[in-house]
Amino acid sequence: MRSAFATKSGWDQRIARAGELSKSYSFASEILSFYREIALFQKALYNYLETSAYRPVENTSNLPDNWDAFVLLPHFQPLLYVTSRTGPKPLAQLASELSDAGTTVWEQLLNDHWQAEHADDDGSSVSDSFFAHAFLQPYAEYLAAQADSVSNYTLAVCPFCFRRPALGILRPEGDGAKRSLLCSLCSTEWEFRRIVCPACGEQDVDRLPIYTASEFEHIRVEACDTCKVYIKTVDLTKNGRAVPVVDELAAIPLTLWAAEKGYRKLQANLLGT
Ligand SMILES: [Zn+2]
Ligand SMILES: [Zn+2]
Repeated sequence: MRSAFATKSGWDQRIARAGELSKSYSFASEILSFYREIALFQKALYNYLETSAYRPVENTSNLPDNWDAFVLLPHFQPLLYVTSRTGPKPLAQLASELSDAGTTVWEQLLNDHWQAEHADDDGSSVSDSFFAHAFLQPYAEYLAAQADSVSNYTLAVCPFCFRRPALGILRPEGDGAKRSLLCSLCSTEWEFRRIVCPACGEQDVDRLPIYTASEFEHIRVEACDTCKVYIKTVDLTKNGRAVPVVDELAAIPLTLWAAEKGYRKLQANLLGT
């Protein structure tokens, strides 16, 4: 399943889409311009692993228990640099502080995040979690791209790294669409039944309302009235040019709207929203 949608070469699309949407969505332009810088950093890290034909020490049928500090840690400083230069003020400030804190602190921060069961459960602040997530994402994505695909998988957590999905995707199938979920850490995409809440398993269609807004015709808020959790799903049958992870970031008004309605997001995105 995973190999069918591998996002191996997806960096350029993400970078281009962030540039494009930052111009058309004024409310998201600052966030998307910053995301574009982060994606450029992530692409460079991914390319480094690829061109050096990196192979992890442990086997990769699932995410290894440990990340490779020896290989990766020397690449952390450039992320701090790009964030201090282009990030929103609080993150830029924190990047400078982390830069001064040194490698022992960085390693601890990254360990905590790698070992946390879920990307926003590592006990750190949203800001600390941003650095760890942005840094470890291309590494996890690289490992996932090497792994064997899975089939007949029905759970709502990633089959490779067991993290929660960041969003849903509707892809054309026959006359309709099938839904898949996209992992928040390693970007593995796996098929998931359409009428099931990925948080609590609710299957009663009357308890699973779907909301859309005219501003974002291709993005649905898929909510659950049983557990009050929602995810955003990007409908590629309505807009084939969308790059789900970027379009989800841009749809800030939907996040605000869902929060007002009392829904909690299943998994915060890279920027903590
Ligand atoms: Zn994953
Ligand atoms: Zn639910």
